[in-house]
Amino acid sequence: MPKIKLYSQNLASNLDILAKKAGGKEKLIAVLKDNAYGHGLSVFAPKAASLGIVHAITREAKEALEIEEFFQDVIVLSEHKEVFFKHPKIIFAVNEFEALKNVPSGARIALKVDTGMHRNGIKSDEIEDACAIISQKKLSLHSIFTHFRSADEISGEFFWQRKNFDEIKVKYADISKRYSLPKVYFHSCNSAALLRCNKFDEDFARVGIAMYGYCDLPEVFGKFELKPVLELFAKRVSTKELKIGQRVGYGGMFTANKNMISSLYDVGYSDGILRYDGKAKLKTTNKSLILGRVSMDSMSINSDEEEISIFNDATVWAKHFNTISYDILVKLNARIAREFV
Ligand SMILES: *Cc1c(COP(=O)(O)O)cnc(C)c1O
Repeated sequence: MPKIKLYSQNLASNLDILAKKAGGKEKLIAVLKDNAYGHGLSVFAPKAASLGIVHAITREAKEALEIEEFFQDVIVLSEHKEVFFKHPKIIFAVNEFEALKNVPSGARIALKVDTGMHRNGIKSDEIEDACAIISQKKLSLHSIFTHFRSADEISGEFFWQRKNFDEIKVKYADISKRYSLPKVYFHSCNSAALLRCNKFDEDFARVGIAMYGYCDLPEVFGKFELKPVLELFAKRVSTKELKIGQRVGYGGMFTANKNMISSLYDVGYSDGILRYDGKAKLKTTNKSLILGRVSMDSMSINSDEEEISIFNDATVWAKHFNTISYDILVKLNARIAREFV
C-alpha cells in the first residue's frame, strides 16, 4: 500500500522560521483543518504540540475534540455544535451577524469580520450591535479576526484590507469601553501575510501552508527556506519489459520508443492523487517517468525500485495540473498510513 512519511526536522525548521517572523511559537495558531492539509490530523497535532505549538484551528468541532488535549485552545472555523459550547478549550468562529443570536450564553467565540474578501464575516457597521449582544449574552469573546484575499499577490489590496482591519481595532477599543467588554486578541495573517510582513504586530498568525513547507509568494518578498514535510511513497506490484512500440495502460497513452522497464506501483487516483492523463511528461521524485494514464489503484513507472517516492514536493504535481500545492496535499486519502520520521 502507499504510505506517507512526514519529516519532523522539516516541520521543526518551518516552525522556527514562522516563529521568528511572528515573535514566538506562542503567537502561531497551527491551521489543522482538512486532516492537517492531508498530513493526518491524529499524527500531526501531537507532533506540532511537541514542537511548541499551543494554539490550533480546525474546521469541525469533532476534529477539535480529537486534538484539544494537545493545545491550550482550538478555534473551530465553520461549525457550531451546541453540545460543545460549554467545552472550555473550544472557541467557535462566528461568521455572520445572524449566527450571534443563536450562540448560547457563556460560549467562547472568535468574531470574524469582513474587511474586503466578502466571503463571510460581520460588517464593520455591525460591530456595535454585535458587542451589545456579546455583552448581553455574556459571551466570552476570545478574538476578532479577518482573512486577506490577496496576501500572496503583489497588489495594494493587502494594504487596503489591513487598513480596514486597523480601523476595526480602533472601533472595538471605543465600543468595548462603553459595553465594558474586555480586551481581545486580533489576528489577520495567514502564512503568506505573515511572511510578507516586515513588522508583525498582532497577537496571533494563523499558519497553514508554510508550516507544511510551502509558500507561493513572489520572490520580491524574500526567499524562505521552507521544507516540505510530506513525502508520498508507493510499493512495486510487478515489473515487465516493454518492447519497443508497445503501449501501456488505459488508452495506450505511452508508447515505448525503446525496450524499457515498466513496473506497476500501488498508488492511484483513489488514493487522492490527481488522475494524470499520460500526455505532458510527469516524473517521480528521482525523475523516473510515469508511463501512461494513472489508474484507480495503480500506475506504471519506468523503474524497478521496490518502493518509489511519487513526490516530496507537491508543487511538481500542482504545476502539472495548473493548481496549488494545497489542492494536491488535502486530497491525499485519509486511509494512507502516515508516520513521522
Ligand atoms: C486555511 C486558513 C488559514 C491558513 O492559510 P494558509 O494560506 O494555509 O496559511 C488561515 N486562516 C483561515 C481563516 C483559513 O481558513
